[in-house]
Amino acid sequence: MSSFRPAFRFAPSPNGLLHLGHARSALINARMAQAAGGRFLLRIEDIDATRCRPEFEAAIYQDLGWLGLEWEQPVRRQSEHMQTYRGALERLGAMGLVYESFESRGDIRQALAGRMDWPRDPDGAPLFPFPRAAMSDAERARRRQAGEPFALRLDMTAALERVGRPLFWDEAGAPVAARPELWGDVVIARKDTPTSYHLAVVVDDAVQDISHVVRGADLYEATAIHRLLQELLGLSAPAYSHHTLLLEPDGRKLSKSRGSESLQALRANGMTPEEARRKALR
Ligand code: GLU
Repeated sequence: MSSFRPAFRFAPSPNGLLHLGHARSALINARMAQAAGGRFLLRIEDIDATRCRPEFEAAIYQDLGWLGLEWEQPVRRQSEHMQTYRGALERLGAMGLVYESFESRGDIRQALAGRMDWPRDPDGAPLFPFPRAAMSDAERARRRQAGEPFALRLDMTAALERVGRPLFWDEAGAPVAARPELWGDVVIARKDTPTSYHLAVVVDDAVQDISHVVRGADLYEATAIHRLLQELLGLSAPAYSHHTLLLEPDGRKLSKSRGSESLQALRANGMTPEEARRKALR
């Protein structure tokens, strides 16, 4: 008899306190897992050592517990799996799909000064403007040896040539042709960190046997990159769906960085878990 059980996950980054938008994602995943007789996993996405803090991780466990959620143990913490990500990065490198870019943010800004027409990625950042071929391998080696910082980028054109356009299935079950080229040559690792969000999330969803990725609509376009990386690395694809986001009264999405009210603050002000669940799922 097959032991397959659907697996869902909630994957927050401990770089701030959770708000009702996170509660919404966590509750939707937990409920879908329950309805499917499946598993609900928690993953701590803490690859960015400069922004993640232990007190935020502790707050995640506290907030999710307060919401009445239970998740499988052990919790996967990305910071403990850098070697696994390095392995995936090396495989992409061996296919000739990764290159070092030494241009700083300032260099990029300068190159694009006055270029209002330059294409932007779905998050609004300008596409990387320096073609891979513009720097020789010898120059790259010289800069690497000089210890200059660099980002490792995916050669999007070469990647698409290799595996073609990946598909994913939308909520209605219809196949959608992913458009990873909207992101240009995305950063997939840095000099001191052998991964990025995109690479780690794809590796982890595979390692954790995640069958359903259910997350906010703000990550819809990123799914194209994730599908491409899965094709390149030979990983099976989970089913993807994207839920609507909770919005602030001004219409913008809730955000840690703009200080949307945290679950911790709502709790301190007397909100009950029932109320939080209702507000999160409205
Ligand atoms: N760690 C990501 C975030 O907090 C979510 C990743 C995902 O669900 O794929 O936005």
